[in-house]
Parts: sequence; structure tokens; C-alpha cells
Amino acid sequence: MSSSVAIEKIGIIGGGIGGLFLTSYIVQNWPDYPDIYLFDPRFDERGEARTSRTSGFVYQGWAGSYGIPHVDPSIVVHKIYTITFHKGSKSVEISDPLGRKICIINRNPVWMNGRLIPSIYQHIRTYISKYERIHFLPFRVNDIYFPHGQGSNGNFKILCNDYDGKKHQIDVNGVVFTTLPSKIKEILSKKIGYRPPKTWPGAVFDVYLKKEEWLPKYQTLHKFFVGGGKIHTIDLIPKRDTLTIMALGKGATMPVLYEHIDKNPDIQRCLPEHWRTRIVEGSAGTLNIPVTSAKNAVSDGIACLGGHVFGALLINGGLYTNLWAAEFLAKAIKKRGFHKKGLERLYFAKLKKILCFQNLIGKTIYMLTDSFLLPSTIISYFLFRKFVKEKELAPEKRILTRFAWDLLIGEESFSQVLIRFLRGLSI
Ligand SMILES: Cc1cc2nc3c(=O)[nH]c(=O)nc-3n(C[C@H](O)[C@H](O)[C@H](O)COP(=O)(O)OP(=O)(O)OC[C@H]3O[C@@H](n4cnc5c(N)ncnc54)[C@H](O)[C@@H]3O)c2cc1C
Repeated sequence: MSSSVAIEKIGIIGGGIGGLFLTSYIVQNWPDYPDIYLFDPRFDERGEARTSRTSGFVYQGWAGSYGIPHVDPSIVVHKIYTITFHKGSKSVEISDPLGRKICIINRNPVWMNGRLIPSIYQHIRTYISKYERIHFLPFRVNDIYFPHGQGSNGNFKILCNDYDGKKHQIDVNGVVFTTLPSKIKEILSKKIGYRPPKTWPGAVFDVYLKKEEWLPKYQTLHKFFVGGGKIHTIDLIPKRDTLTIMALGKGATMPVLYEHIDKNPDIQRCLPEHWRTRIVEGSAGTLNIPVTSAKNAVSDGIACLGGHVFGALLINGGLYTNLWAAEFLAKAIKKRGFHKKGLERLYFAKLKKILCFQNLIGKTIYMLTDSFLLPSTIISYFLFRKFVKEKELAPEKRILTRFAWDLLIGEESFSQVLIRFLRGLSI
């Protein structure tokens, strides 16, 4: 794209978290922003009904201020008040010294106490709908033509279908991919050398609990360190009649997880009797959690954003990372348009550097915990005693407890959390 081409139209593929955050930053911080074309089959009412995910989003960062723009408390479905760490037959429950909670916000609208709580997508969409020149297109993108030769006016052609199979073509000056349909993946890898990030296996799913038998007074996040070089951690989040299970590590596949949950007496101990290992339909499955960043994710007129580029800042949460990435990208486009050099320097390279550094610290913390601290009975016993003892101290003196919550809440980078912890220890 030549420097003389002004940005009049931006196409954003995918109206999920990445696409909505990006649109929201652009319209709020760029007074004469270009027309924005957001493509997502879910914008169609039938599309929303067809989405299969029932699981919520764990949004770490309940502190009164949400971090995520326009998310207000009315869409929080559940809050987690305490974390219980389990190691063998020992366990300790801690709450955050700062009183923060972990929130669960939903991917799909849910009825609660006779009230319809919108999904996070609907919520942000409603907010940004009041801005002009945002076109929500309920189309599935299938293909893209790069600008070439004369007569193309430097435009990309986005080819898509609506739910009735009717074909559409929209011309734009720049395209942001928050999701990559397989054909486009091939095109980008050939044309701009796009390479996806490295991933770790993980799994998230909900299981039903027998109704009315186990209604926890409040929600707690149970963290089990199962080690063995396969699964790093299993987390259980009880809701009223379901349990969300998240696992991270090489063996975090569904069959292995079932075996762990069904046969591990320490986990069984925390579950209600007669629980049914039946997965809530469409709640999720085996995941590939990106732990590095993609390669060559920007070019002239093209920028990739979202889960397929950076995913999660280790396990600090994909929402947080996407929010951060969207902000960098919006600023880069505003300043330099869709020029490869500007996108590279102000968005991709900048973010990649931060993520690589943070991932290194995060991985080291988890590696130390999994391979060294927790497998050692003496050290883990010492840590559990320390957690218990800290409960008697004033909140500002609960250094280890704060460290654990900070890591899980993910409001700050791993480096900031670690520095605060080390400073606390040295005082
Ligand atoms: C099961 C699961 C649980 C997770 N839990 C958490 C969590 O608890 N906390 C957290 O912080 N992160 C979590 N993550 C990570 C988080 O979901 C992702 O990092 C984030 O959603 C990525 O945003 P995105 O916009 O790239 O993708 P998405 O939010 O997935 O949006 C992609 C959008 O693209 C649309 N689309 C797909 N194909 C096309 C097409 N051909 N044309 C047009 N549109 C298309 C889809 O309909 C979708 O709306 C989880 C991920 C998964 C899979």
C-alpha cells in the first residue's frame, strides 16, 4: 500500500473480543476515524443462537475498576471470593488481602433471577453501536484478494457469505484478522510469511453437578497441583450446578483429565457426592493455548490480532492480552496507517518484546512452583503453613497471599508482581 493511500475503510474479521476492543479504541481515540466494517456471522440473530460455547469467561480483575472498557458490574454472572490450594491431602483457602474478586462474565446471554444478562460481546457491541460509521456485517469471511495492479485502488477485497448463502464483496484499505479461516491462513502464510505461535495443551469444560445437592455458599477457585510432568494444574470453579474445569500442561487432554478427576482421591474429596461426569454440551474442549507470539503477523495493509497471534499472556488471561494488543494496534494505525514499518514498530515488535519477557518470567514462576517447590514435601508444607499463618496478619503484611492473588488476577504484568513480592520479602 503506497503512502498516498488514505485510510477510509478498515475491515475487521471477527467480532469477538479482539475485534470489539479494537473498534472501541479506534472510535474513542480517533475523532475522524475511518469507516469500520466488522465481519462476524454471530451478528446475525441466528448466528448468536448457533454459537456453541456455554462456558463463561473468567475475568480476573474485579477491583471496582474493570480494566475492560464498558464492562459494568451488571454483566458479571458470578464472582470468586476465595482460592483454595490443594496439595495432596492438605489444603488452604485464602481470600485476597485487597478484597478483589475474580469475575465470571458470559460468552452467551444467560437468565439469572428473572433477568437477562447480556453476553460480553453484546454488551460491548451495544456500547459502540452509538458511534457512526461502524458496520456490523453478519457475514462469514471466506477469501481475500490482495490489491494488485491498476484499478484496484489499493483496496483489499473481502469475500464473504451471509447465512442464506448469498455472496458479498467489501473493499477496504486495510484488514485486521482476529480469526483466520483456513483458506486465509494459507494465503497469509504464502503472501506475508505468517506463522502461528507455539502452544501448550490445555482444556476447559463444564460438567453438570446433581441439582440441589451441592450449592456452594460462595464461589472458590480450587487449584490442584497434580504435577507428574504432564498436567501442571487443574482448576475447579464451582457454580450452582456446574463445575468449570480448566487444566494446563502436556497431558491436559480430555481422556487424561477424566482419569485424574475420577480417580484422584484428593480431587474427589472436594467434589459433591454423586456428581455426574457429563460435559455441558459445547462448553469447550481441548485447547491449544498460545504461549509465544506469531511470526510475521503484519504487512502493508494487513495486521493480525487476537487469540491466534498472542492468545494468553501465559495463563494471565486472553482477555487482558487482547485488550492490551488492541490498544497498541489502534494507536499504530492512527499514527502510521497500515504501513508495514509502522505496524511492525509501534504494534507487533513492541508487544512481542513485552510478551516474550513476561512469558519468560511467568513460565519460570510456574516451572519453579511445579517442578521444585510443590513436589518437595518440606517446601510445600512450609508454604501451606505460611499461608495459614498469614491469615492472622494485617492485610498489607500478607505477602505470599497477595503474590498468589496477583498472579491469578492478572491485572499487572508478571514482572511487576514479582518485584512487589521480592520487595515485600526483603522488608
Ligand atoms: C474455551 C475457552 C475458554 C477461555 N477462557 C478464558 C478466560 O476464562 N479468560 C480469559 O481471559 N481468556 C480466556 N480464553 C481466551 C480468550 O477466549 C481468547 O484469548 C479471546 O477470545 C481471543 O479473542 P479473539 O477476538 O481473537 O477471538 P474470539 O473472541 O474467539 O472471536 C473470534 C470471532 O471470529 C468470528 N469468526 C470466526 N470465523 C469467522 C469468519 N470466517 N468470518 C468472520 N468471523 C469469523 C467468531 O464468530 C468469533 O466471534 C478462553 C478461550 C477458550 C477457547
